[in-house]
Amino acid sequence: MGGIPKRTQVVIVGAGPSGLLLGALLHRHGIDTVLLEQRSPDYVLGRIRAGVLEQVAVDLLDEAGVSRRLHAEGLPHGGFDLCFDGQRHRIDLHRLTGKRVTVYGQTEVTRDLMAARAEAGLPTVYEAEQVSIHDFDTDRPRVCFSHQGQAHEIACDFIAGCDGFHGVCRASVPTAALHIFEKVYPFGWLGLLADVPPVSHELIYANHERGFALCSMRSATRSRYYVQVGLEQQVENWSDDDFWAELKRRLPPETAAQVTTGPSIEKSIAPLRSFVAEPMRFGRLMLAGDAAHIVPPTGAKGLNLAAGDVGLLSRVLAEFYRGSAAGIDSYSERCLKRVWKAERFSWWFTSLMHRFPDHGAFGQRMQHAELEYIVSSEAAQTAIAENYVGLPLG
Ligand SMILES: Cc1cc2nc3c(=O)[nH]c(=O)nc-3n(C[C@H](O)[C@H](O)[C@H](O)COP(=O)(O)OP(=O)(O)OC[C@H]3O[C@@H](n4cnc5c(N)ncnc54)[C@H](O)[C@@H]3O)c2cc1C
Repeated sequence: MGGIPKRTQVVIVGAGPSGLLLGALLHRHGIDTVLLEQRSPDYVLGRIRAGVLEQVAVDLLDEAGVSRRLHAEGLPHGGFDLCFDGQRHRIDLHRLTGKRVTVYGQTEVTRDLMAARAEAGLPTVYEAEQVSIHDFDTDRPRVCFSHQGQAHEIACDFIAGCDGFHGVCRASVPTAALHIFEKVYPFGWLGLLADVPPVSHELIYANHERGFALCSMRSATRSRYYVQVGLEQQVENWSDDDFWAELKRRLPPETAAQVTTGPSIEKSIAPLRSFVAEPMRFGRLMLAGDAAHIVPPTGAKGLNLAAGDVGLLSRVLAEFYRGSAAGIDSYSERCLKRVWKAERFSWWFTSLMHRFPDHGAFGQRMQHAELEYIVSSEAAQTAIAENYVGLPLG
């Protein structure tokens, strides 16, 4: 990278999918950005996270000009299986909605966006330390940080807070200006990534008396599996063999018999949380993605919501530079409409599929009755399918 600019139009804090995609979309609109990331590129690429893209996210990656590999290697999925009582029931997304989702790992999306940004020569500062944001309640915001022992300050028109749940941007907003809505679930997901073919060509979501399980994949040769675990569990205490045995216990015997096991490439436990911070704009600071909201991963919405936010943000910023601030003023409200719909679906699907310590026998019967209702009702399946394939940008 050349020298670090002292002024730009938009400083983007965070080079996860939100920050990178926003940078690519703004570049298409001719808007200058500087991207600041506290970690190294390898660290960012090493995080194993989401894997299911809605059409809205695919369309935005098309618009950003970074979807060549996604279209060549992504796996279009027209449905998924709900599994309970040892039976699999297919939810036919394509028949019910006319839409599909695409399985393509977040790591690969990030890799493609990083490569495109480097190729375009756009300024990106990895391992930026002590990032702090200032004066975003005026029309002359500033961002300060240090890099390789040197202090830097960048003057800008806008700051995009794409720095995830633990980032500095939301934390810099006065507490009294924020409304926080949060639910922490009493369990987590133990995930295992392995270079083995997936057990099924589509995802399987399993409700089982021992807890939830998910059979997912990143490609035709790389599988991602999850089992629900208690919050007290430590990943170090789970050998690969323990994981495979537990996964198989939660699947119908004929499906379990088809699971190809192998050594893990990665294994981790993710806590589950629903979280929304309102509003998503404070003067010249806009929050996007996990910096503003978190969903439990059950509905595969986190990455897609992040893409939706930055899709909208790129449009309202482009409108601003063409002379209209109206879009900026409506950014938060328009995002939050989509966010709350996805929050509802992710919370509902999580509640339907997991074992809750305080559910009791009645709660379990209710789950079971609801699952029975879903598989017997076209209307219920359509509602799930519409939510799963996602909402338009709005
Ligand atoms: C363990 C895990 C598993 C997940 N699984 C799924 C899934 O299966 N399906 C799904 O849809 N979603 C999943 N998600 C959610 C999905 O990955 C996120 O919604 C998505 O990463 C959001 O992208 P983002 O760019 O907004 O935030 P992030 O990906 O968190 O990126 C934020 C970036 O900002 C950087 N940053 C933070 N603080 C600073 C700072 N002070 N200065 C500079 N940079 C900073 C971070 O290093 C990071 O690179 C998962 C999330 C986690 C944590």
